[in-house]
Amino acid sequence: MLKEIIDKFYLDKQKNKEQSHFYITDAGKCQRAVFFKFKNAPRVEMEARILRMFDHGDQVHQLIMRPLLSIREIRVVASEVNIGPQELISGRADAILSDGKDLYVLDIKSMNSMIFRNLEEAKEENINQLQLYLHFFKIPKGILLYVNKDSLELKEFLIDYNPNLVQSLLKTLSELKIKIDKNIIPSRLSDYPESWQCKYCQFREICDMGEQNEMNWEDFKKKIEKTE
Ligand code: SF4
Repeated sequence: MLKEIIDKFYLDKQKNKEQSHFYITDAGKCQRAVFFKFKNAPRVEMEARILRMFDHGDQVHQLIMRPLLSIREIRVVASEVNIGPQELISGRADAILSDGKDLYVLDIKSMNSMIFRNLEEAKEENINQLQLYLHFFKIPKGILLYVNKDSLELKEFLIDYNPNLVQSLLKTLSELKIKIDKNIIPSRLSDYPESWQCKYCQFREICDMGEQNEMNWEDFKKKIEKTE
């Protein structure tokens, strides 16, 4: 009985999740998948178990933040910091820290043992997000802190602001916004279907029905509706 109630709680939360602006996690992601999110295209729903794991990740972040809030060497200037209002993108960094000399944007990421063990450098998608935080907060240094959810081991990577990377990410998002407004579905990833993004993509089924190159959303929507 409880399992069904708890699962329903999580599954209801993801229903009709229409998107109207970019999240910071969209930076560097497959443009077609982000387009489909904006259009609320049919997707494979995430299992309640996965959604609970996201919640668990949030708890792990709080656990990691606790000592930082009470030690002298580091001052937490702000936690759960939203990027300022602008039209393109929204996001919330875990914290801004000070060591008494410099400021750092902190982003905490949790992962399972297997991924953690093989992690030798910061993941590209996490660097993209952190770079955008550095840009919007105007802070030149950031820290990606990875937590092994199973053993609570930590690994950290210091990241310097890279203005060229940020300009490229922002340009891509601006171009994607134009495609979204004009109903132009972006091309598939060049390494479709081998990409890890395709492997976990909630839109894989409808993406498979389309073409490799750009398509018109209105025409493609009719094709999807016929198969539903
Ligand atoms: S299946 Fe791959 S190419 Fe298609 S939308 Fe998903 S991530 Fe993009």
